[in-house]
Amino acid sequence: MSKVLFKGAFVMSCNDEIGDLEAADVLVEGARIAQVGADLAAADAEVIDAAGMLLMPGMADTHSHLWEAPFKGRVTEAWGWEYFTNMHPLVSWLSAEDLYTATYAGAVESLAAGVTSMFDYCTAVMSPEHADAAIAGLRDAGIRAVFGYDLRGADPGRRWQHGPSGERFADLERVKGSLADDDDMMRLAICLSEVTPENLDRAEREIAFARELGCRMSWHNNKGGEIVLLHERGLLGPDMLPAHGNYTTDEDLELLGAVGGHLTSQPEAETYAGRRSMTMIGRGHRRGVRIALGVDVPAIMNLGLLPQMRLLYLLQRYIDGMHERLEAQVPVARRPGVPTLTVRDIVRFATVNGQSALGVEDTVGQIAPGFQADLILMDTRTFGRAEGDPAGHVVLNSSAGDVDTVMVAGKLRKRDRRMVGVDTGKLLADREAVRDRAYAGAGETIGRMTRTHWEWSPQA
Ligand SMILES: [Zn+2]
Repeated sequence: MSKVLFKGAFVMSCNDEIGDLEAADVLVEGARIAQVGADLAAADAEVIDAAGMLLMPGMADTHSHLWEAPFKGRVTEAWGWEYFTNMHPLVSWLSAEDLYTATYAGAVESLAAGVTSMFDYCTAVMSPEHADAAIAGLRDAGIRAVFGYDLRGADPGRRWQHGPSGERFADLERVKGSLADDDDMMRLAICLSEVTPENLDRAEREIAFARELGCRMSWHNNKGGEIVLLHERGLLGPDMLPAHGNYTTDEDLELLGAVGGHLTSQPEAETYAGRRSMTMIGRGHRRGVRIALGVDVPAIMNLGLLPQMRLLYLLQRYIDGMHERLEAQVPVARRPGVPTLTVRDIVRFATVNGQSALGVEDTVGQIAPGFQADLILMDTRTFGRAEGDPAGHVVLNSSAGDVDTVMVAGKLRKRDRRMVGVDTGKLLADREAVRDRAYAGAGETIGRMTRTHWEWSPQA
């Protein structure tokens, strides 16, 4: 069994009993953490000198569409519906091989930034081959993954072999059958079409199917009252992960909190959109909803959660302050419940809550014996670690460039700031080729949005 010994790190374990440890060692045996403590020794272990670095659990991105990775920058200035009209038609021009490359590229970019678990919400499953290719891309990157198989309707270019949800059930059974039940590196989830009053019968069939298959679910929760609808039909459960939830009502959040539910927020994408309320974070947090994080749109934002964490922390403080000023609490002062979030909360959203949203909190997301060795080292040797809570250093004083080492299930995926086993030159060429083929097919050009009006309905 391979052994790796991290020596002398500042350990932020995210484990309640272990807490934070100064100059501690962590011994990894095989895929798991064997010991955490001082002066550990293992004669046959590869030793990583982690002095001056912060060792923490890898982060969990609980909602990203990795197929967009080759198109970074395409919709940077999109407004209103322009993101959809300029991005979604490109899906039709991705071959299964292209989807493999795009997904692999997105997973590598995420790993490089310290994300070790990924919910890939794949809206590009145009055929069984596409599903297999995306799963292969995730596997080859070595990221711990949940493959989210989307059930939404037809594509704008009509090149999909798959019809809407009903016709995809058989393929989902096939994919589920191809994955080992005890494979904790690759699991299947089902992305529901829509949870709206008009679509609720169909959603109910999808939910029943997902539960029969033993799959967790997610969906774009873009309207208020959707969680109430699920509750009224007796369908709401902790196996459902709503994404965004910017328009959720207090009742929605109350019900979600009551079932021990999670909400995954993508702070950069949601604020970028310009039309979304961000008050659901504080309202959900106060009602016991466990907040998790994601990036959502790698065509716009870099993959990796550190910028999401920082924006969320600052944004919530801004909202708290605005609320206090509206209530004439000026100057603002600390009082029970205000400010809403600590830096520790934010780190928990990205680690423990993220893994819990993916259903693996008992084995992933903490540095403690028995847990999966999904670990990252943040380099603090040059400018030092910020004083106070080290979670504050992670949230406000670090960047993806500081991620020195990344380990997933005991395997090193990044070391000395370089990706392990990745031909980065080939990857760059491959992702550019995917982009160029898609643009050629769709008649688009690099660096220019062409569709500035709504010409495609996802319900078509
Ligand atoms: Zn999304």
